[in-house]
Amino acid sequence: MAYTVTVDTDKCTGCGECVDTCPVEVYELQDGKSTPAKAEECLGCESCVDVCESHAIAVEEN
Ligand code: SF4
Ligand code: SF4
Repeated sequence: MAYTVTVDTDKCTGCGECVDTCPVEVYELQDGKSTPAKAEECLGCESCVDVCESHAIAVEEN
């Protein structure tokens, strides 16, 4: 199963919670925003969606 991971950079505050939460280290902070640098590793657990208080993250099954 593959997933598309997107971060709305207008909503992202750069808090880093998704970076700390993702079990497979999909996210990196770049210029104060989260970027799904290794989206191909995503397991679809949606922990990042739950932890993001800004509702900036979407994870969709391909
Ligand atoms: S948890 Fe949300 S607001 Fe925080 S860095 Fe990740 S995407 Fe941005
Ligand atoms: S859904 Fe799970 S595996 Fe995928 S980016 Fe979010 S926390 Fe990481």
